[in-house]
Amino acid sequence: MARLIFLGPPGAGKGTQASLLAQHCEIPHISTGEILRAAVAHRTELGVKAQGYMDRGELVPDQLIVDLVHERLLQPDAASGWILDGFPRTVSQAKFLDELLESIGQSYDCVINLDVPDETLVKRLLSRGRADDNEDVILNRLHVYREQTAPLIDFYSDRQQLRSIDGNQTVDQVTAALKQIIQA
Ligand code: ADP
Repeated sequence: MARLIFLGPPGAGKGTQASLLAQHCEIPHISTGEILRAAVAHRTELGVKAQGYMDRGELVPDQLIVDLVHERLLQPDAASGWILDGFPRTVSQAKFLDELLESIGQSYDCVINLDVPDETLVKRLLSRGRADDNEDVILNRLHVYREQTAPLIDFYSDRQQLRSIDGNQTVDQVTAALKQIIQA
């Protein structure tokens, strides 16, 4: 049983690592970005509301995200563990998550921060070619990350819940470092 939160800037490799580790631990990988992209692709009400924010590299409003996460964590497959990737992304989302977990009688084991220098991030994102991966939008996402998400590093390290990993290594090396943390 593992309950993990993945933190890190866009392009840090959260999605790749969260997916590998979720398979290894046989728990769901819950990526708010993926859920939103699927909603946009299917033109659901959520997708229609979220698309403009995503295209500009902004965060979608908290209310849309917190309802989505609440619903997802209540699914039966999330009862035995999960990896949250892309949530929380603001201090207010982190506080919401604390309340939500308390209300459903769960808690997380630790928060994993993938550390990667900016030059590497921009290179990786430009080569990925997702719809929101053009240069202006990438720079905006990095700016939003620094302003709104990076404060979570202090938020969780003040609570001694943060583990940082050097994300500027090969995929296999990062995976090995992660497995070491969760086995410890
Ligand atoms: P990245 O790979 O850039 O970290 P994600 O796939 O996690 O991106 O998310 C893509 C987009 O979805 C974000 O730029 C943002 O608009 C939206 N999004 C995802 N998670 C959240 C969240 N927790 N709060 C607000 N917006 C979010």
